[in-house]
Formats: sequence, C-alpha cells, structure tokens
Amino acid sequence: MAGGTSVAHTVSLTFSLHLRRTFGFSAPPFLVLATLACVSAAPQPADLLISNAYVVTMDDRRTVHPQGVVAIRGSQILAVGGAEITAEYTASKHIDARGGIVMPGMINTHTHVSMTVFRGLGDDVPDRLRRFIFPLEKTFVDRDVVYWGGLHGMAEMIAGGVTTFANMYYFEDEIARATRQAGMRAILGQTIINFPAPDAPEPYGGLDLAKKFILAHRGDPLITAAFSPHSPYTVDEEHLRAVANAAEELEAPVLIHLAEMMSEEINYLRQKYQQTPVEYLKSVGLLNRRLIAAHCIFVNDTDIALLKENDVGIAHAMVANLKSAKGVAPALKMYNQGLRIGLATDGPMSGNTLDIIGQLGYVAKIHKLDNKDRNVMPALHVVDMATRGGARALHLEDKVGSLEPGKLADLIIIDTEGAHMIPLYDVYSSLVYAATPADVRTTIIHGRIVMEDRKILSLDVPEIKKQMRLIGEKIQARIK
Ligand SMILES: [Zn+2]
Repeated sequence: MAGGTSVAHTVSLTFSLHLRRTFGFSAPPFLVLATLACVSAAPQPADLLISNAYVVTMDDRRTVHPQGVVAIRGSQILAVGGAEITAEYTASKHIDARGGIVMPGMINTHTHVSMTVFRGLGDDVPDRLRRFIFPLEKTFVDRDVVYWGGLHGMAEMIAGGVTTFANMYYFEDEIARATRQAGMRAILGQTIINFPAPDAPEPYGGLDLAKKFILAHRGDPLITAAFSPHSPYTVDEEHLRAVANAAEELEAPVLIHLAEMMSEEINYLRQKYQQTPVEYLKSVGLLNRRLIAAHCIFVNDTDIALLKENDVGIAHAMVANLKSAKGVAPALKMYNQGLRIGLATDGPMSGNTLDIIGQLGYVAKIHKLDNKDRNVMPALHVVDMATRGGARALHLEDKVGSLEPGKLADLIIIDTEGAHMIPLYDVYSSLVYAATPADVRTTIIHGRIVMEDRKILSLDVPEIKKQMRLIGEKIQARIK
C-alpha cells in the first residue's frame, strides 16, 4: 500500500512537472491525482489519432509538445497533448507522424484561385491589370475555366498545407462546387465590378449574383459566401453603399482590394473625396467587422487606427506586392498593434503561387530589411500570422487557427526528414527559414484526410492536370 502511494506520488510529481513545463504552472497534488483517476478511466472513442508528432498548437500559450498526440472525432479536435494521453483514446484510424510537425493548417486570406489558368502570362510588364488581366478574363473566363482552374489551384493549396482560403472571382458558384469536392474551407466572394463581367453582362450585375450566392450557401459547414466589390476604384460610391447595406442585412463578409494603387485609387479618392481609401470605405459604411481588405499597402497611422477600431481583417500579400513593385505594406506595425492580419498569395497570375509556406521567409526578411532591424518580425510572429492571424483576419478564430480541443480539425503534418529540417532546434525558425511547401506530407480539413503521404485523396489530380493542359492550349492558340 505504502509502495502504491509512493508510485502514485512519483507519477503525480512527474505529471505536475509536465504541467509546469507545458503550461507554465503546477497543479496541487489532489488535482493531479484526480486527473490521473480520469486517465485510468476507459479510453474514449476517437476517429483519428495522430501520434509521434512534434505538435505546434499555436494556442494562447504557444504550447509545443515535442512528443505529441492529437485526437480527432468527427470534424473536431478532441484532445491535444503529450505522448501520455495516447492511452486515453481509441481510434479507427491511426497516423504515425514519424516525428513530423503537426500544426494548424495554413490560411490564405486572399486569392483568385482560378487564375491558375493565366499563370505566367503578362509578367514583368507595366499596367498588367488593364492591359492583360481584364482582357484575358473577358475573352477566356467561363464556367469551365473557373471550375477546372479552381480545382487545380485547390490541389496546389492542399499539397502546400493550405486548409482555408478566401477567394474573389466570377462564377463563384463554380468555385463553391470545386471547394466542396476538394474538401477545403473557404470564404468565397462573388465579384462586383463596374463593367460587363464574364458572369454578368451588365455593369454591377455581380451584386444580384452575390445575394443569390450568399442565400444559397447559408449554413454550409465549409463555405462562407461573401460579397466581393473589386476595389474602391472599380466600384462606385452608390454600389459600395449598396454592398454595405446588403452585407449588413445578410450578415455576410465583404472582400475587397484596398489601398493598393497609387494613381487610380489613392490620388483619385484624394481628389474626389479628400479622403484616403480607408476613410472613404468608412464613409460608405463598409469599414466594419465584416470587411476583409487585401493589400493595404498605402495606409497611414490614422488609417491603421481606423482599421483596428473597426475590426477589419487584413490580407498581407507580401510576395505579390514585391513582384508588382508597389511597396511594402506596414504589416509589421499592423501586427504589432494587434490588428487582424494574415498572409495571402493574391491570385496565381500576380504572385504565381498559392502556397503560404513559401511566403513565410519573405515576410520575415523583407520586414527586417524594410525596418533595417534583424530583430523585427521573428519567426514565431510569421507563423502566427500564417495560422491564427489568418483565422482572425477572416473572423474564423473561434473555429480554426490553432490546435485546441473543440476547434475544427484543420491541420497539417510537415516532414522533418529533409536535410534542411535537421537538426530541429527551433521549430518556428525551421518552418519560416527552411521549410518548403513540398515538405507537407498530410493535410486534414474538417476532420477529413484530404491528402495523406503526399497523395491527394479528395481530387482526381491527373484528370485536373489533363483539363488544365487543354485549357492552356486553347488560350495559347488564341493569344499567338
Ligand atoms: Zn487580388
């Protein structure tokens, strides 16, 4: 009996030590023993158990379990902990992470996924938007192009560890169809613009399409439908106000490009309204918790304060902004001031990629260079923006962005067997400065394994590639 007490006491001390290491506090012995009593209870059923994992939770305390376990039931995370919780769960499916990093999925807060069909066209030239993008879209964009281009981009995102994305495009119902097949989580915005669009022959025809699209996707577990007025320079004041009213009535998000163009946006709004783009959006009723603004390159301190006060989400598309040579958005300031800011690729015709892991190093390094200070934008903050920050930017932080019991099971496994990942001293440093999207081995969204050991299970990738090649040949033939 005495021996038993002593063993329990030793275990209790060990467990207490574990709590202190993991959570930074220790528990009184009675609580630890009570917890141990629970541990010895019958194992709980789970659907999926991931073990032998280097778990990076991105929870409030940034807890890391170097020998960790994640249990999933249905679409939700049931438990996250060290190896000692393995015995508490039985699961129909077990994944041995083989020491890989298990972390929340990456969140791409702004893209136009179907533009995979135009990737590599009109690079390295001035005025791409009006000379190349809009004319290409007018000529080639139809339901098929949007659907197959969307699937192709989603395959790339899944392979690179993106689990949630925010999208703006035409025929957004086709993107929704593709998103459902891919099994991804998304905020999908139907584009509204001041000229005839591929899916709306009348200027601003996208507004009615958006309303219908939003009503048709109410209650969807993966898709949140949204309004996407293209920008303050391609949608007039009357229609921006109409979007603001409709978004309030339907409680729908609004995706927009903001403060990204010097002449036709910044200068135009200054001349016409004596306002910055941020002040202008406030005056038309759009600056609120429903807004997700992409770019925000040309914002001053007053604008940043307004974006924060009004709870606006920001999509920081660093690499696309570098390529367009527009400037470096003050993302460091926005992050440090606690704004809702996440990372984004922009469309694959702008940034030429859809994965977030490839952006991480740029985000860290450009902000260091821009501030002439190697201490700023440390790796942990970059990973934070790619996961929790993205969730906050999309107002989804109650559901995704960290690995915690009760949150939705959107997570990835990143291989640590590549030469560039060995040794693994600081997991955040390895993720930001060394990891590549090709290191992603497994992607799980809403509890469903959509890619396992680099094989995409939710999509017919060879068929998608075949269709993309056909679309590429058609486009190539017409632009000769
Ligand atoms: Zn964009």
